[in-house]
This record gives sequence, structure tokens and C-alpha cells, in this order.
Amino acid sequence: MYEIKIAAVIGAGTMGLGIAGQLANAGVDVLLLDIPADGDNRNAHGARAIERLLDENQPGLTHKDNLSRITIGNIEDDLDKLADADWITEAIVERLELKKTLYKKIDAVRKPGSIVTSNTSTIPISLLVEDMPLAFRAEFAITHFFNPVRFMRLLEIVRGADTRSEVIDCLEAFNEERMGKGIVVCNDTPGFLGNRVGVFAIQTALHMAFQMGLAPEEADAIFGRPMGIPKTGVFGLYDLIGIDLMSDVAASLVSILPEDDVFHEVSAEIPVMARMICEGYVGNKGTKGGFYRWSDPADSNSKQTLDFGSFRYRDYNNEKPPVATIAELVGDFTKLLETDDQYGLYAWQILSRTLCYAASLVPDVNESLVAVDDAMKLGYNWLQGPMEMIDAIGVDNFIARLEAEKRDVPAFVRTAAGKSFYRVSGGKLQYLQADGRYRDLRRAQGVTRFSEMRRTLTPIFQNKVASYFELPEQLGLVEWHSKANTLDGESMALLAKSVQHASKNFKGLIIHNDAQHFSCGVNLDSVMQFIRDADWDGLDSFLHHFQKTVLGMRYAPIPVVAAASGLSLGGGFEVLLHCDKVVFHANSVTGLVETLVGVVPGGGGVKETLYRWAEREGDVTKGAWQAFMNIGYGKTARSPLEAEPLTMFRNGTDTYLMNRDRLLDAATRAALAMGSDYSTRPREALAMPGRDVWQEMIEWLQKAAAKGHLTPHDVTTGAQIAMIVTGGDVDAGTVMSEEDICGLERKAFLTLAKTLETRARIEHMLRFGSPLRN
Ligand code: NAD
Repeated sequence: MYEIKIAAVIGAGTMGLGIAGQLANAGVDVLLLDIPADGDNRNAHGARAIERLLDENQPGLTHKDNLSRITIGNIEDDLDKLADADWITEAIVERLELKKTLYKKIDAVRKPGSIVTSNTSTIPISLLVEDMPLAFRAEFAITHFFNPVRFMRLLEIVRGADTRSEVIDCLEAFNEERMGKGIVVCNDTPGFLGNRVGVFAIQTALHMAFQMGLAPEEADAIFGRPMGIPKTGVFGLYDLIGIDLMSDVAASLVSILPEDDVFHEVSAEIPVMARMICEGYVGNKGTKGGFYRWSDPADSNSKQTLDFGSFRYRDYNNEKPPVATIAELVGDFTKLLETDDQYGLYAWQILSRTLCYAASLVPDVNESLVAVDDAMKLGYNWLQGPMEMIDAIGVDNFIARLEAEKRDVPAFVRTAAGKSFYRVSGGKLQYLQADGRYRDLRRAQGVTRFSEMRRTLTPIFQNKVASYFELPEQLGLVEWHSKANTLDGESMALLAKSVQHASKNFKGLIIHNDAQHFSCGVNLDSVMQFIRDADWDGLDSFLHHFQKTVLGMRYAPIPVVAAASGLSLGGGFEVLLHCDKVVFHANSVTGLVETLVGVVPGGGGVKETLYRWAEREGDVTKGAWQAFMNIGYGKTARSPLEAEPLTMFRNGTDTYLMNRDRLLDAATRAALAMGSDYSTRPREALAMPGRDVWQEMIEWLQKAAAKGHLTPHDVTTGAQIAMIVTGGDVDAGTVMSEEDICGLERKAFLTLAKTLETRARIEHMLRFGSPLRN
């Protein structure tokens, strides 16, 4: 009975603009209201919100045209327009009295059957609606989004004592499918779930670092990737969010949590931080810096750290803890816990406390451990949830270490003694309940996380960077699982073998993984190794094998469908370019960025881009110019909508979805639908533009360099791209097959790889993670 077609957001600050932006991304018309501003433009707050949505550094919109769905206004002049809205969500300042006053105004104009929600982080629902009539309370809930709304996957929905089930059902379904969120339904308890555990973890990491005398860079090197959490670290996160704001968040949790809550043990004010806030060292948003700063904001290598003793900045020390040790630990946090030094101890101190705290919330704060794990994975970007982490340590090991330290063991952890929180039984993933019984883990129809599904499957074959599975519907699935899913010879060998196996045995092949990024491209370390060894034959055969594999995929007798989210760059995107269909996540980033490291796409990427542009332009020469410009500039798209004009997304063939948890199911259905009468897509050879156009492109490069727009090595690299897309030193109209063009790609790649400038670019990227402009 409830249906959301038109929405309204009140409060055009950080959260309100984010929610309005995501509604627009979901194709919903939205009214965005704030208080009237002083001065001529009474809608100035809304106008500022629109500017922020378009911010290039963190765009809230998947395409700027989505802006047409947002109408701005103010709560005095436009209040009556709320009567059109099916869902009115409030995201004004965290002040109870202001929110209560606003609800009265909303209730006076809203239509019956409309849903009203608040984005409050801390105020209990019982207080928010205490003055409101039952009819309002029945249609009221909390929808707690995370910042930035477009990118953070978690939405906590809190139900009040009088909220109708249909309201929760509608909010859940709409926000899961249309807004792309992972939903956790929470009880009305302080901080709900995500912030309750997340802020506890951060506060613990902070206090332990001070107690153990660790410098910020030491603490952040540990409380990051090695622990399976974002690399920002704890001090970095304080700087990012704002040291003053984080202190307020902790203080507000302190004020609402019961007196006996363990949170109070890690909430005391830290003197040096009080001084920082007082003197304006509030983090990245301020001008003075925070725990870190950059002495030259334009130079990423000028990072400095605040020395707590002298209260002065000193050079950032990236040698402590030893970088090599940390790099080895990334990927398995249990190794870190076993490390017998202060860093291993630091990790244990944080994790043991945080995991116990999280476990203690089941069942009183939330009856399901899956909700706790989801909250941390989707709201704080942890790789594993707390209970999954205890399973990885081993429940009995975890209990034994706590007991050896004479620490309390939460009742729910005791329940799991001798068992695990998750198990596979009868081919199904199950989780433990507080009563000691297991229950099947069920997600909404169409929601499938491969990270969960893979636990119920055994790979048909695998190597250390990739695995191949059979899905229940007789489809093969290739999963990469290297760091950032970079590709090397082994990833491609497994893909090639999977294509062959699936072609013989299955109805189709899916390429997918549930990691943050589909693939960040070819492993630069392995490319660099060929260069260091001057192993040009080895490099050529690696590229040749890559090309043969993607061509094999393209011409396989079965459909090959990819489901991609996060970054799909370079070689990762070249694989996508050769699939029959790609199901993208709405925030997918795509592009061929090889020129940044002084090479060309050498895995069929130039060839495929040329074909796509030639087809779109209806003319090979025009297509060649487009491919030359787009690849030359290493253009990327930050959403499928942005990718379409660049030919990186094929309308009518590829699709995109708002919720990344739906990609696998959609890809499965697409592969099965195509499978019944599938035939490969033959392609004609291209009549290449030839040497005159090649020469024109080189002249274009030289002119751009003369104007200072390109560096000398940009010209060298660009000339090689030009050679490929025109066919090089051949007559106009010379016909070339896909294999011929792939041969030119390899020739260009090797020519560039032999230059000192390309070598310098790759080394710079590997060392600093940023491109060298030589
Ligand atoms: P903000 O300060 O950025 O924005 C609040 C906006 O509300 C401002 O534009 C202000 O002008 C407007 N406003 C104030 N009173 C109003 C009224 N009576 N009517 C209409 N507009 C009014 O705040 P924010 O960070 O966007 O937070 C908004 C809500 O979301 C708060 O309840 C906060 O606790 C919650 N929240 C914030 C975050 C976060 O990370 N910032 C995350 C989750 C939830």
C-alpha cells in the first residue's frame, strides 16, 4: 500500500544533499528544503547544496543531468509542496526541539499515507515523536544513512513502537533496490549498530595508541589494511572527519549510553586533543592541519606528523613500523595478532575489545549477528564483520586468550564455544543465534553476495590469485582474489582455462567478485619485473596470452557476462570490453589509464575502443581519432552514465544497478537468458586510416606539446597509440583483423617498455601511487 514515487528531503546540509542526490540518481523527483536564507536568495542553502553535489572531488550524482530531478526551496515558502511527497525525510541539525517543531509543520501539510523519517544519529525515536498523534507515529521511522550517501552502503532503519510494518517493508524494499543500500533494521537503542561498534573501535584505537606511546603513523599502519579496515587509520580518520566533530560524536554517545556500558572506558578526553581543538588543529577541513598535514598541499610527499611532546610538526615517518612487515601482513589479520611485538599487541588490544563489545550487543541490541557484521562491513568498510573475525581467529582460541588475560568473555561468545558463528550445513550458509541454534542466512530475493555464496562452493580449479566455480544454474564463475584484483599471467591462465571448461560443460560464464574493486588492472610489479630483466620475449608472450584469452572469451560458444563494481581499470577494463554483457554497479569507475604509466592498453583495449568508436561514428577514421584522444588522455568514467558517451558502456547491451549486492543475480539471469539461443558475434576486419592520419595525429601531439599541454613522453606514448589506431605506416584502407591490431598493441607496448621514461613512470607509480609527468 505504501509506494515511493516522489520524495522530499528537509535539511540541505551534508546528509540532506547526499540523500537528495541519491534519490535523483535513483530516478526519483525530490524536493529539497532548508530554512530560508537571509538576503536576496531565500533558497541559498539549497543552491549551495547543489554546488556541493556537483563537487568534482566527490560527486554526489552519477550524472550531472540527474540534477533536473531536484527542486530546491525553503520551509516557509514551499512547505505546502510537501503534500505531493510519498516519503519526507528530515536531515536537519541534531537538535531535538527543532526536529519536533518541524514534525508538527510537516504533519499539517503531508498527505495521509506518506512516510516521514528522520536521519538522526543519536536521538531515540520515542523522543522524536512523543508529541505527535498516533497516525503520524504509525508512519514514522528513522532512516540513518551514512556519509557520503552515494558511496556508503549501509542504511539503518529504526522502527518505533507504533510504526506500521508496511512502512518498514516499504522503506526496506525501496532503499535496498532503488537507493542501493544494504539494510540493517535496528532496535531503538543508542547509536543503533554501526556507530555503536564503529565509534567504539575508533575510540579504542585512539586510546590504546596514546597508552602504548605509538606515533600516529605507527598506529595507522596497523589500524588499517592489515586489520582488514580502510587504510585511513584512526588518526587519519579523525583528520578526515574533523577532530572536533569526532569528539562531539563520542561525547554524544557517552551522554546516551547506560552508565555500565564499556564505551565509557574509552571515552575520556585526551589532553593533547583538547589542546588541538582549542588551538584550531581540527584536521583536513581547517587551515592548521590535524594529526597530519601537508607542508605543501600540492605535493603529496610533503606529509608531516604532529609531535605530541613538542606540539610541532615533524617529517612523516613511513619506515615505522617496517613497511615490508606490514605489507606481508595485509590480507590476513590473524597473522598480525600472532605477531609478538608492540604492533601485534596493539591490534589485539583493539580487536579483542571491539569484538567482545560487538558480541555483547547480541541479542539485546540486535538479535542477529548478521546485522552486526553487516553494519561494520557496509557502514565502516571493514572487510569482515566482528563475528566473522572471531571465526577467523577461532572461537576457542579467542576465548582462551581472553581467559589467559583474565578478561571477561561475553555470553554470546561462550555460546559459540567449540563451534563457529557461521557454518555451512546442507549446502547452506548458516549463522548462530543467541539460543545456540543455527539459522539459514537468507537475503532478499535477488540479493546474492558471492563472498557468502563461495563458502558453500568448492572451486573446480584455482590458483593463488583466482578461482573457478560452478554455480547451481550450470554456469561457471571466475573470481579473482589478488590484492586489488590486479591481473598477472596466473589470473589470465585461470580465465583461459575457465572459458574452455565452461564452453564444454556449462551454459555460460560469469566473471565477478565481491571485493571492493573488480580489478585495478595488470599487476605493475610483474610488468616491471619483465622490464628490469629486459625479458622482452617474456613480456610479449604475457601480452599475447592476455589478448588470446580475451579474444577466446569473446568468441566462446557460450555467453560471457561480467558483474563489476568499484574500479575496473586498465587490464581489468580490457576484460570487460570483451564480454557479451556487463552488469555494472551504478558507482563503477572504468577506463584505460595505461598512458599514466607510459604504456598503451596491450590486452585488446585499443582495438576494442577503436571498434566501438568506429561503429558509433560510422567511420573508421573518425573512430580512430576518438580512440586516440580518449586513450591518450587516459579518460575515466565515474559511473555507467558517464561511461556511455565514452563508449565504455553499451546502451541496450550493458546494464547497471544501484545495489551491488544484486549484480551477481542479474548477471546470472542475463547469462541464462542469452544462453538458450546464443551465437558468437562475428566481426569484420577494419579498413585502417593509414599513414597520413597517423602523421596528422603526430602533428597534433607536437602542437599540443609546443603549447605546454603535453610532456615529451606524452608525445612518445601518444604517437604509439596513433600508430595502433591508424594501422601505422600502411596505405589508407589496408584491412586489418582483430589479431593484426592486437599485434600492433604489443609492438607499441614493447617499444615504450624499452624507454627509460616509461620505466621511470612505472617505478614512480609503484613507489608513490601517483603518476609521473615526464
Ligand atoms: P548539517 O549541519 O550539515 O546540515 C543541517 C542542515 O539543516 C543545514 O543546512 C541547516 O540549515 C538545516 N536546518 C537546520 N534547521 C532546520 C529546520 N528547522 N528546517 C530546515 N532545515 C534546517 O548536518 P548533517 O551533518 O547533514 O546532519 C543532519 C542530520 O543527519 C543530523 O540529525 C545528524 O545527526 C545526522 N547524521 C549526520 C551524519 C554525518 O556524517 N554528517 C551521518 C549520519 C547522520
